[in-house]
Amino acid sequence: MEDCIFWKIITRESPTGFIFADNDLVVFRDIKPMAPVHLLLVPRRHIISIAHLEEADRDLIAKMIFKAGEIAQDLNISEKGYKLMFHVGEDGGQEVPHLHLHLLGGARMKQKIEIVEK
Ligand code: 5GP
Repeated sequence: MEDCIFWKIITRESPTGFIFADNDLVVFRDIKPMAPVHLLLVPRRHIISIAHLEEADRDLIAKMIFKAGEIAQDLNISEKGYKLMFHVGEDGGQEVPHLHLHLLGGARMKQKIEIVEK
């Protein structure tokens, strides 16, 4: 867990500006943005992925999704639309093993999935 880059960001070991932070979540810009707006919504608690959720995490996931919608409104990208993505595990393309929700917007995006050889 201590090796996880998002853990370092949450614990401020790696300084990163937060767009939003409370006791449950932090939100910051993706270091390699794939759209004009590319934010990551990250729970403070270390959960590896959607596949590791427990029943008690329902409220947390709902909060992440509602917060993404609120931020999209605040950034004026809501009317035109945006993309929310959870990558889950190796085949899902997840690189950082700490649950996060991508919020992408500010440009028209295609639905494009790239399959990589294993
Ligand atoms: P994943 O593929 O795991 O869903 O996405 C992880 C995301 O985290 C990637 O889009 C990547 O660019 C982003 N990322 C990786 N390391 C850092 C970092 O040190 N700082 C920030 N802000 N984003 C990072």
